[in-house]
Amino acid sequence: MKPGVEVLRQCLRTVPPLHCAHAFSTYALLAAVSDSRNRQHALMRTITDALAAMGGVGSTSSLRQAGVSRRSIEAGVQDSSVQRVARGVYALPDAEPLLVHAGRHYAVPACVTAAQAAGLWVVKGPGRPHLAAGHGRPIDGCVVHRSNVPLTHLDIVCQSLRCLPPLEGLTIAESAVKRGLVQLPTLREQFPAVREKAVLGLVARIRPQSGSIIETMARYLLEEAGLTVELQVKIPGVGHLDLLVDGLLGIETDGYAHHRSRAAYREDRRRWNVTVVRGIPTLRVTFEMLLSEPTEFVRMVHRALATYRSAQ
Ligand SMILES: [Zn+2]
Repeated sequence: MKPGVEVLRQCLRTVPPLHCAHAFSTYALLAAVSDSRNRQHALMRTITDALAAMGGVGSTSSLRQAGVSRRSIEAGVQDSSVQRVARGVYALPDAEPLLVHAGRHYAVPACVTAAQAAGLWVVKGPGRPHLAAGHGRPIDGCVVHRSNVPLTHLDIVCQSLRCLPPLEGLTIAESAVKRGLVQLPTLREQFPAVREKAVLGLVARIRPQSGSIIETMARYLLEEAGLTVELQVKIPGVGHLDLLVDGLLGIETDGYAHHRSRAAYREDRRRWNVTVVRGIPTLRVTFEMLLSEPTEFVRMVHRALATYRSAQ
């Protein structure tokens, strides 16, 4: 994983991101630096530690909530151990540039950018970062969602469902529900408007039992093609088959990571052989195929179904 993504992930996990900046009083300039050296050192540690726990960037209000005194904040600026990037927003010198950029505009990572940072199932990274800000004004190089901050997981999922192509919104929402970050009934309540019927329809297609992003992508494409798809079908001797199409054709979607040990490789071969013995023709698909050649994937499934139907 890219270091920047890890920083974002840490930020989302540990803290309320930035609140809208609060005006910062300048009266405290002198206080921290005039104290004893030890005391000053302790104050420095406090603000740098607090910012580090926030992923490198934080607002006055979030720092105050973390127990950092105004005096310590100002001392950190004086000492250059932290930088004031906007009125009421502070950053460590090595903070992730995107977070600093967002902080300068009183914004936070949102939508697909935040979903990626949170480790949800993201089909592809966005061309431009997606941010959220209460002011909703354009931010250079970014897509901006007008929203109250900090964001919850529910906010991030709703933004993704509204903003992204249906499949990309679905994978994010499904992984959030699967991980228990968002409750399905709560998610359904977020789209009462008639004009959001399509989004609600997408929410109705969430299956928390989905085993992976590849499985969700394959299922979505096949359902869109009008096929009946069952998930995690129990097959004696195999365990659970990822997908069963029209009650006839199996689809296995395990990713490259499943084959990193010899034991996993052997188990995979064993499962494959049992499906053949039991007469369940099974296709194996990769993430790359579903992403780059979705039409070819669906065509292949139709052809396989036609072949095995005619043989029955
Ligand atoms: Zn977006």
